[in-house]
Amino acid sequence: MIYLDNNATTQPTAHVVEAMLPYMTECYFNASASTTAFTGADKPRREASAAMARLLNAEEPDCFTFTSGATESNNWVFSSLTRTRKAGRVLISAIEHASIAEPAAELARVGFEVIEIPVDAHGVLQLNALRDALREDTALVSIMAANNETGVLEPVLEIGRLIRQLCPAALFHTDATQAVGKISVDLQGDWQDVDLLSFSAHKFHGPKGIGGLYIRPGIELESMILGGGQEKGLRSGTTNTPALAGLAEAASDARSLNIKTIEALRDTLETRLIDAIPATVIHSRMAPRLPNTSCLSLPSMLGEEIAGFLASEGVIVGTGAACSAGAIHPSVTLRSMGVAHEVVVNSIRVSLSRISTIKEIEELVIRLKKISS
Ligand code: PMP
Repeated sequence: MIYLDNNATTQPTAHVVEAMLPYMTECYFNASASTTAFTGADKPRREASAAMARLLNAEEPDCFTFTSGATESNNWVFSSLTRTRKAGRVLISAIEHASIAEPAAELARVGFEVIEIPVDAHGVLQLNALRDALREDTALVSIMAANNETGVLEPVLEIGRLIRQLCPAALFHTDATQAVGKISVDLQGDWQDVDLLSFSAHKFHGPKGIGGLYIRPGIELESMILGGGQEKGLRSGTTNTPALAGLAEAASDARSLNIKTIEALRDTLETRLIDAIPATVIHSRMAPRLPNTSCLSLPSMLGEEIAGFLASEGVIVGTGAACSAGAIHPSVTLRSMGVAHEVVVNSIRVSLSRISTIKEIEELVIRLKKISS
């Protein structure tokens, strides 16, 4: 199998799996019991928070609350708001993942004023529109750090500065699911104005079903799940020690990622594809992008058909919003960029990982050429 859909999910590395195994075999104990000094069951959580703090340059390991992943973290940020306020303004971008767009729609239903900030033709957030929308009663601004379909990197630094300048009390949340483990994130540098940040381990070679929310010291959220009081009472439920052990390993590995190598591979793919099929459209090519992502449309062939054909030959790529449970909706991201419908429906997404190879890229180009001739 040639797997080129790494923005949907990645392969856990062998030593991520190895790190998890002891917590399913000999060390399966309760991480919240008073006996952890003897069982060692609290180690994965400690290591996961320390590894995440190092990866994102957070102030301290304590800034992380672990959840089942970014969907839960994103929902938490929005639902927390409804418990502290009855109304207010909430700003999101027009290209958010459904796990932001849906909770935002729910806020609108209960009386919040939700405004979608548009993106330009390259998929980059329009800062002028954000500036105009930032009013005193803005409670939350949630703008994704990197788009799952095009890979476009939104200007987190500039967004943060605008919020602090015009609306200092507003919370700045970023869904960084596609950014964490793929680009450098510095919560005490360029990202210092981010208050809340969501991530999922399976996007950077960790296990599925584990992720978290970074919460800047001093920021308070309402509890997400009530019960046994785990995660400092914010998210109850027995600690998922195997998944945390895998997350810790994946977060440590992500620090040694060679971004330039992946980017060079992606650029080679795009150059070769244009040479082979000159009518190929590469979306957001001129915008700052994740190094691993290429969103492209081939002439006169539906993305779904291309992906189906490739899969039948053992090559997996993504289409539209690849992680929306099999439903085929023309990409919201591309439509928001003003891409014509007939080009949107022809799009596929190729997303590489640290284990992708030039041979795989060559195989993909050969097959795409075969389809389009
Ligand atoms: N946000 C973005 C930008 C994503 O790409 C995804 C996964 N496709 C999510 C949130 C949700 O992540 P998870 O399914 O791991 O909860």
